[in-house]
Amino acid sequence: MTPWRRSRHSSAAGRWLRQMVLGFSLACAALLTACGASSSSGVAPPAATIVPAASSLLTPVSVSPPNAVEPVPGEAEPQLPVTVVDYQGEQVTITSIERIVSLNGDITEIIFALGMGEYVAGVDSSATYPPERTKTLPNIGYQRRLSAEGILALNPTLVIGDEAAGPPEALAQIRAAGVPVAITADPPTLEAPAQKIRFVAQALGIPQRGERLAAQVDAEIARARDLANRIATPPHVLFLYLRGTDVQQVAGGDTPIDVMITAAGGLNAGAEAGIVQFKPLSPEVVIAAQPDVILVLEKGLESVGGVDGLLTIPGLADTPAGKQRRIIALDDLYLLGMGPRTGQALADLTIAFYEIAPQEKRP
Ligand code: ZN
Repeated sequence: MTPWRRSRHSSAAGRWLRQMVLGFSLACAALLTACGASSSSGVAPPAATIVPAASSLLTPVSVSPPNAVEPVPGEAEPQLPVTVVDYQGEQVTITSIERIVSLNGDITEIIFALGMGEYVAGVDSSATYPPERTKTLPNIGYQRRLSAEGILALNPTLVIGDEAAGPPEALAQIRAAGVPVAITADPPTLEAPAQKIRFVAQALGIPQRGERLAAQVDAEIARARDLANRIATPPHVLFLYLRGTDVQQVAGGDTPIDVMITAAGGLNAGAEAGIVQFKPLSPEVVIAAQPDVILVLEKGLESVGGVDGLLTIPGLADTPAGKQRRIIALDDLYLLGMGPRTGQALADLTIAFYEIAPQEKRP
C-alpha cells in the first residue's frame, strides 16, 4: 500500500538524533522504529525516500497520546458554571458540559487529550483524532460550512470551537436558541496549541488540567525547536496542497505550514519564491523554488496517485527533491492542527530535515 521503501538509518548523526528524540517523544519513537531514513551517505541516490506517514506509522500515538493527563487532585469533577471570554471579547457562561458539540478537529483533539471525550456528542468532519472515537460520533459536517439545524438536533449543552468555525450566521442561530457557543482564537503560531488548550479547559471547568496539558505541549514544542537549532544547513521545503489535478497549490508565508517548516529548521521554498499564503502551483514556481524536499498531506499525495503521480507534475521531477524522491507526507490534523500533537509533528519534521542535511551545528 505505502509506496515508500524504508531502510534502517545507520549514520552516527541519525543515531544521536534518534536518541535525543526517543527521550521525549512517543510519536518519534514509533516513527523511528517503523521507518528508517534516506540518503545520508551521499553516494547513489536512493530508489525511494522516507516518508514518515504519521497516521499509518505512528499508530501507538492513538493509544497513548498526551491524552493521558491525570486529573489533578481536587479537580476530579468539572467546576461549573463557568464564564469564559471568547475571541471576540464576549462573555459566555457554561452551566453543563453533559453534551458537547465540537466544531473543529483540533478542538475535538484537545477535549479528548484533556480526558473529557466521553462528553462529546458531535464532531465535525475535520475531527480525525483520536480515530477510533471520532469515527463513530455523530458528524455535523465540515467546520467552515456548518448548519445550525444539524448541531441543535444533537441537543448540545455546549458548542465549542475556534475561529475557523462558521459561517457566523449558523453560530448566531445556535446562540439565539439559547445554547452557549464558546469560540477561541486560532492564530497560525506555535503559541496557539497552549492557548486553545487553556480556553477549552476553562470552558469545561477543568482549568488546572488545562495548565498541565498546555505546559506539556509547550515543553514538547520547545524540545523540538532545540533539535531544529542543530540543523546547520536548512533544507528548502516546498509544501504542496493537492486535491487531485484540480487543486494544486503552493504554501507561501503567513500560513501555519510556514510556521511549522521554519520552526522545524527548514526554509519555506514557497515563501522564498515570493509567495504569500497560497498560490496555484506552476512550473515557474517549481523552478524558482528548487526544493530539497517536498512536503504534502497524506490525502493530497493519495489524490495524485502517490509519489510517482506527484512527480509527473510538470517541473517537480527535475528539482533536487524530485531527483532524490524526497517526499514527506503527513496527516493534515497532525501537521497543521496546532494542537496537542504539534510538538511531536515538529519533531518528526525536524528529523526528516536533519537527515537531508545531517551536519550538526557547533555551539
Ligand atoms: Zn482550528
